[in-house]
Amino acid sequence: MSEVFPIEPRLLLGPGPSPVHPRILEALGRPTVGHLDGQFLAVMDDVNERLRRVFGTENALTFPVSGTGSAAQEAAMANVLEPGDTAIIGINGVFGGRLREMARRMGAEVVAVEAEWGRILDPEALVDAHRAHPDARVLAVVHAETSTGVRQPLGEIGQYLAGTDTLFLVDTVTSLGGIPVALDEHGVDVAYSGTQKCLGVPPGLAPISFSERAAERVRTRETPCQSWYLDAGLLAEYVGEGASRKYHHTAPINMMYALHEGLVIAEEEGLPERYERHERVGGILREALLERGFCLFAQEGHRLPQLTAAVLPEGWDEGALRRRLLQEHAIEVGGGLGPAAGTLWRIGLMGHGATEESVERLLAAVDAVRA
Ligand SMILES: *Cc1c(COP(=O)(O)O)cnc(C)c1O
Repeated sequence: MSEVFPIEPRLLLGPGPSPVHPRILEALGRPTVGHLDGQFLAVMDDVNERLRRVFGTENALTFPVSGTGSAAQEAAMANVLEPGDTAIIGINGVFGGRLREMARRMGAEVVAVEAEWGRILDPEALVDAHRAHPDARVLAVVHAETSTGVRQPLGEIGQYLAGTDTLFLVDTVTSLGGIPVALDEHGVDVAYSGTQKCLGVPPGLAPISFSERAAERVRTRETPCQSWYLDAGLLAEYVGEGASRKYHHTAPINMMYALHEGLVIAEEEGLPERYERHERVGGILREALLERGFCLFAQEGHRLPQLTAAVLPEGWDEGALRRRLLQEHAIEVGGGLGPAAGTLWRIGLMGHGATEESVERLLAAVDAVRA
């Protein structure tokens, strides 16, 4: 291997990417074959099957989009929205804001339902917005708001929307593989994610899933999907088991091996056990931060275990200390975004990184840079 740019390893405890299991790095090195090779198609089919299990769905149209979480976010919006449609968007952080921006770019009329950063979106407010706009084609929320550490409850909204013609669209980029997403149980119609958060796979693929009624919406659009690359109707001809396997674009072959390995590792541990591990380790971190004088940014009772937004104690220099964690201790944590910039750290305990050892290393480093 060329040593022109040697890369020092880091302990990745930010909002993503998360630490990658050595078996996944090894999987990336398997032989590259063609995207129509039966060997590859078998891996892809198995990935789609495993994705259904981790998404908690029977949705036939479930596959990884080529790209990162943002590509799948754009794919979700582009496929179910047409110009002039109404979209109700819940916004309580950066990623809800991006949903609004993407819906606008699709030509939709956006009805924004906002909540203060750090608070959940009130399900009643979303239902009220729908009552005022019953013709809305989509209602979208972020399940795990990575900018604030808030965990949005889904059940009540999903139940309500199931009796309407409005699709329930949910961003599960930071939740998939870390906390249960249970799409079918919650009545979610479109969900997308990314590989680089709680699945613990490098960035580069982005799982997406469409319910039958969402897939029907895609098939019966009046205008073509604005994105050719992300058009789920075209992609379905390649990704589906029993589909014609018609060439659309070259699948990222080696990333598919990596995602496959990541999903195998998750199921070897057991999904309930994996969720329990994230819960437990996240709880230990929260306690330790409170003891050190940090404040937790997210509303009590709605905190994500895999992403803790923690406001630094008075007088700590956020940026300088974060740089020292990286330079002196090879640990990456994230800074705040938007209104939270400069005041808090976003600490991710995701996938392979969600361990007590990660917490201990981080705390020892924090204590050292403060000493
Ligand atoms: C990270 C993230 C995204 C975007 O994913 P990328 O992989 O950075 O493109 C979207 N939504 C949420 C909630 C995220 O945390």
